[in-house]
Amino acid sequence: TPPAPYRGRFAPTPSGPLHFGSLVAAVGSYLDAKAQQGEWLLRIEDLDPPRAVAGSIDDILKTLERFGFEWDGPILYQSQRFDLYQAALEKLLAQGLLYGCACSRKEIADSAAHGLDGLIYPGTCRRGLAQGKQARAWRILVPSTPICFEDRVLGTQTQNLATEIGDFILKRADGLFSYQLAVVVDDAETLITDIVRGADLLLSTARQLFLQNALGYPTPHHAHLPLALNRQGDKLSKQNLAKSLADQPRSQALADALTFLGHPPPTSLLGAPLRDLWAWAIKHWQLKNVPIRASNSPLRYDEAK
Ligand code: GLU
Repeated sequence: TPPAPYRGRFAPTPSGPLHFGSLVAAVGSYLDAKAQQGEWLLRIEDLDPPRAVAGSIDDILKTLERFGFEWDGPILYQSQRFDLYQAALEKLLAQGLLYGCACSRKEIADSAAHGLDGLIYPGTCRRGLAQGKQARAWRILVPSTPICFEDRVLGTQTQNLATEIGDFILKRADGLFSYQLAVVVDDAETLITDIVRGADLLLSTARQLFLQNALGYPTPHHAHLPLALNRQGDKLSKQNLAKSLADQPRSQALADALTFLGHPPPTSLLGAPLRDLWAWAIKHWQLKNVPIRASNSPLRYDEAK
């Protein structure tokens, strides 16, 4: 069978307006799709209604439109897809891969070791709940064999879920589905072939590959883009109130994002209409020119600018 046609996506969480870091992920995933005549889908990850910031969905969509992004098909909203996540959860349950966990945050914090991506769940409830305890969340039993994948930017990556992450949560004590489960279900259901996103999600990839495999889904390609850091060296995020893109000149912000991704536009395009910048970028996009670390980029993104 011929390979599936390229399908990428951008999947922002509506916890605030888009900032430069999210623009970089949007631009990288968009160009990689367009340069391969692929499709690019937009998915709003409003999985956690209490954390969604009022108005931020509208704000994100308006900003994407202002920058000239064109997405294929309808916008997907995770808040409308809980039935699909529940069905996937039940499929894993039927395979005997899940168990109920009664641990409180405090109990875990008191007994777990720190890993690169938070506490490593020590498996307390694996063999059943202690007397009088009530299951609060669903966890999945992880394999102890390492999971390897080829990142298109970063090369070979390996993670051992048992020693580095621990059995992780698929459905939380408050009844919400985890990001890991929702992403895997959505990417598979929308036939995504290529995931291009920020390197802050690199450590989630092994968990997602494991879930894809357990659910019988195909394995997408992955490319993790360098993270934009602020002057203090912290990742730009809505939490540290990275400056919104809404009121910056668009062609300058787009040129900055391209430069950050190792594709500085020629000076002849300085101040050119957005359309011309996009045409140039689609024509010249090559993932191999994306720097591995932000510090390799000629541009240190300066938020104060
Ligand atoms: N919603 C995630 C974020 O905004 C991205 C998820 C993904 O690309 O897999 O950071």
